[in-house]
Amino acid sequence: MSAPSRMSRLLIPVLVVLIAVIGWRAWQGATIERPGPNLPVVAMTPWGQRIVPTVDTLAEIAIWNSLKPGQPWNSGLAAGKEVRQKYAAGKIKVSRTPWAIADRVWAIGPWNTEQNIYLIDTGQGLILFDPSLDLYQPEVEAQIRGLGFQPEQVKWVVLSHCHIDHGQSCRTWQKRGAKVILGAADAPELEQCSDVVAAWFVPEAKNRCTPCGADIKVAGGEVLQFGDLKLHVIDSSGHTPGSTSFAFQRSGKWHLLSGDVVLHNGRHAWMGGNKADWGLYLAALGRLARFSVDGMPVRFDLLLPGHGAIELDQGQRSVELTERAVRSLVARRMAGEKVERLYAYPWLWENPN
Ligand SMILES: [Zn+2]
Repeated sequence: MSAPSRMSRLLIPVLVVLIAVIGWRAWQGATIERPGPNLPVVAMTPWGQRIVPTVDTLAEIAIWNSLKPGQPWNSGLAAGKEVRQKYAAGKIKVSRTPWAIADRVWAIGPWNTEQNIYLIDTGQGLILFDPSLDLYQPEVEAQIRGLGFQPEQVKWVVLSHCHIDHGQSCRTWQKRGAKVILGAADAPELEQCSDVVAAWFVPEAKNRCTPCGADIKVAGGEVLQFGDLKLHVIDSSGHTPGSTSFAFQRSGKWHLLSGDVVLHNGRHAWMGGNKADWGLYLAALGRLARFSVDGMPVRFDLLLPGHGAIELDQGQRSVELTERAVRSLVARRMAGEKVERLYAYPWLWENPN
């Protein structure tokens, strides 16, 4: 027998094992792509969606994959605990650098929290979306520089809503020359540092709010042109009076900047804040789920939420799931049940249709 054929006899079983292992790991929801410079860790959900996960999401995926149909969610909690232990031991990595998540779109900020900040290059200036807390700004600035830009190139600060964890640093950027874009109904709240902004956050947070007046107040329905970017404004009120989502198309894909209104896998907004309104929220989710441009229905590809896992495809799925979850929550509340929250993964596991 010749040397090459002996080699191929050896190679085939090795390849088979390798493919099986990779397939198994992907099916288990393990990390399937190794990050390069500025590329995020990407995980696969049980329904074949590519996401940039948090540790919590990895734990939820592990629980989901450990369950057999019909088993209650809680019977899989050990699988989630194992993921958290592995993460604590450094065996699971969720990278913590600026991530290039789409064409000239980066997720930046400190990734030891669930808080998502986005940077978008329009070709004629940068958009900083939800720059978040003051204490993160040195890191945000360093990351902007690390990507080859200057903080002075931030021409627009777009806020999904007035809550302090999204817009506390707004005035810092405005003083540097950036124009602030905010939902009209949230503008007076941030300008006056009202209870809507911060009263809920930490007891002393109200004193930490810096008043910030919006330069451009939006109500929904506008299309803003920033450089080469057309930003579609969608009224998403309910979480706060002026919560707003922003949609744009790039490289043929629809991106939704959803703030707190739609989160990964149908996780819904926290609704315990001042002036939160469930009825408005449900109506807003309907607008998002059936959003159209020039009469053409839009299906969102990427979901760029204010917290938690980022979705690189199938974003529309989460918009529709959130609407379904909130509709069921509102119905239960109207029936007198004192329920404030549905947890997305367990809820979906137990209510698949
Ligand atoms: Zn919020």
